[in-house]
Amino acid sequence: MPKTYKHLATKLVHAGEPEPRINGAVAMPIFQSAMFEYAGETSYHDLKYIRLNNTPNHLALHQKLAALENAEAALVAASGMAAISTALLTVLSAGDHLLVQDCLYGGTHDFITKDFAAFGIAYDFINADDPDSWKNKLRRNTKALYVETMTNPLLQVADLNAAAQFAQANGLVSLIDNTFASPVNFRPAEWGFDLSLHSCTKYLNGHSDLVAGAVIGRADLIQKITYKLNHLGGSLDPHACFLLHRGMKTLSVRMKHQNESALKIARFLEQHPAIAKVNYPGLESHSRHQRAKELFDGCSGMLSFEMKGGLEAAQRFMKSTTLPVIAPSLGGIETLLTRPATTSHSGMSPEDRRKTGITDGLIRMSVGIEATEDIIEDFEHALKKLG
Ligand SMILES: *Cc1c(COP(=O)(O)O)cnc(C)c1O
Repeated sequence: MPKTYKHLATKLVHAGEPEPRINGAVAMPIFQSAMFEYAGETSYHDLKYIRLNNTPNHLALHQKLAALENAEAALVAASGMAAISTALLTVLSAGDHLLVQDCLYGGTHDFITKDFAAFGIAYDFINADDPDSWKNKLRRNTKALYVETMTNPLLQVADLNAAAQFAQANGLVSLIDNTFASPVNFRPAEWGFDLSLHSCTKYLNGHSDLVAGAVIGRADLIQKITYKLNHLGGSLDPHACFLLHRGMKTLSVRMKHQNESALKIARFLEQHPAIAKVNYPGLESHSRHQRAKELFDGCSGMLSFEMKGGLEAAQRFMKSTTLPVIAPSLGGIETLLTRPATTSHSGMSPEDRRKTGITDGLIRMSVGIEATEDIIEDFEHALKKLG
């Protein structure tokens, strides 16, 4: 029986670690071996081979990830998109239909809108904040419901509790991309979701030095997704497993700081005369603040804001800051700034961006683990320069 631990911070360090320790090694060693000696396995999927996602490095991560979200099982993949695409292609087949939140991570949006037709899979977008509108979109062949914990870049929080309930009541598999919250702030299995998806590239690894993904949830589904991933081949290399494993151990201390720092920075920005609007679910002014408080243990390090001076002011502000790195992606230890209109949402038409509320001047921020005071001071200087 593997040991169990009560608190997430302890699970991050100890859950899934080999017992007994391998030659006494305190840190999980890297098993950089493509194949392992045949030991009488009877099924193809049980042969020990890196692509079959079952080296000691994979297995330790699977147990740790499942423990973090109080779920039955987990699987790591070569990227967040490998996890998401493989999970969707496992629960959906030709002739099936998906209900999916209308505001999605760009890669997922493109996969569904550009690649689903060739697989014969249909979909309808839903307003995930309006449960009453979902019933009308249900079809006889609807098999799954897909949402995200917090939307990018406006940090909207959909009615996640209603989404999980609706899926259960209608026999749908519920999937949620939990990348933005991380298991520290939200654990989908506790709210009845079947599958939680992560880009481990972001908070779980947290050091901006690898690409990885995970699927966490119901054991029967995880087994099917594993077999599909074995066929599609998007497996995580053992060295990347090792880095992810090492990065995850500090997730709780990183996220605790990022939760607190982002709230302080959001409060600072909100009261500043040069700022028009701040999007952060932890702010009382956020339209779904109450819901966020019920669902989440913290609101993570992601926020976005608009300058009163629009695009021109946003560009000047970003140039004037000295501490944040101007780069896409998120969830690492360094503070990052991006303008979604030129990065994550550049594929969208200006008209569609405007309709969704993503203005050209919107700045998205991923708060790192630097001292909050240093970031605020840097912002104060940059805002003063706008004059
Ligand atoms: C980055 C991201 C992904 C994709 O992950 P990769 O590791 O880049 O493949 C999926 N969903 C969300 C919310 C993300 O931020």
